[in-house]
Amino acid sequence: MSIILVFCEGKGGKLKPVSREIVSAAKKLGGEVHAVVFGEVSDAASLGAFGASKVIQITNPELAHYSTEGYAQAAAEIIKAENPAAVVFAATARGRDLAPRTAARVGRPLLQDCIELKMEGGELHVRRPIYAGKVLMWCKVKGGFAVASLRPKAFLAEETGGTAQVESRTVSLDASKIRAKVLEEKMAAGATLDVSEADIVVSGGRGLKGPEGFAIIEDLAKSLGAAVGASRAVVDAGWRPHSEQVGQTGKVVSPTLYVAVAISGAVQHLAGMTTSRTIVAINKDADAPIFKVATYGIVGDAFEVLPELAKEIRKLKAEN
Ligand SMILES: Cc1cc2nc3c(=O)[nH]c(=O)nc-3n(C[C@H](O)[C@H](O)[C@H](O)COP(=O)(O)OP(=O)(O)OC[C@H]3O[C@@H](n4cnc5c(N)ncnc54)[C@H](O)[C@@H]3O)c2cc1C
Repeated sequence: MSIILVFCEGKGGKLKPVSREIVSAAKKLGGEVHAVVFGEVSDAASLGAFGASKVIQITNPELAHYSTEGYAQAAAEIIKAENPAAVVFAATARGRDLAPRTAARVGRPLLQDCIELKMEGGELHVRRPIYAGKVLMWCKVKGGFAVASLRPKAFLAEETGGTAQVESRTVSLDASKIRAKVLEEKMAAGATLDVSEADIVVSGGRGLKGPEGFAIIEDLAKSLGAAVGASRAVVDAGWRPHSEQVGQTGKVVSPTLYVAVAISGAVQHLAGMTTSRTIVAINKDADAPIFKVATYGIVGDAFEVLPELAKEIRKLKAEN
């Protein structure tokens, strides 16, 4: 049976949720899924429940911390050894860095930020956004395997009930080619839920008038268990950190629910959120472009609408 090789990610010694999503997506391609994890990831075997038949745990000490050059060397070695029909990464910050280097090393095409996948006649077909999300295209790779990165939250993590055999492996590396060394990793202060990993995102824009305007965003986010996002205008003004920016030059998100508050809907913002499953826009301008992509729209003043929304959500939660 053909092998689909999936490069998973961990954080703080545990799998990142996106790892389960990309293993599930790979399983649907019909091959045997071999998942790769780097370093100590205590729940790596649980990928078996999502469709992986084998988990390859890479134990080289040089790879305990992420480095583009070290991981790309290792990934290429594993690909050569596994001879896969397709190679899958997550389109996270790390995956977007690692997948191109790896694809170049193995001399195969790369398809970034895919939101749908299928295998037909041994060829990988993927759907991905182009022109900053204005167009969704299907493309296929002929004449051998492809490397694809999959957008977080675009695929559901689905349990299949299987188990995986875990194999520890070291790969041969030329350590002299790893020129950057990570000395320490620190969590961003106060970081709780990352926008690109959250199931629900509540984002605020310049219409909130200032950093204090984000109190209503934080309150609604808290009532929904959501992450807080922001437009670039807000980040450029220094109201919110860059880690919260959604869009072309920020993070790409695909949550189940995206709430855009006082955001106009510039094309660069839309590039980061249009594949969200449900989009709710709140804006006082009925002609704001954000309403063109919204599933539900509320024309109104955010400072009046949001407190009411948060109140109703808390009431509903208390009733259930
Ligand atoms: C190369 C490049 C890359 C970019 N990358 C990004 C990116 O990654 N992400 C991004 O977001 N932008 C990006 N931009 C910027 C983008 O073009 C817009 O300038 C930006 O998204 C606007 O932010 P905004 O919607 O918050 O502000 P504005 O466009 O000023 O919109 C504010 C909105 O708030 C509404 N409003 C005002 N008061 C209220 C109120 N009380 N209640 C409700 N609504 C209210 C207004 O009607 C308006 O629609 C990029 C631009 C360039 C050139």
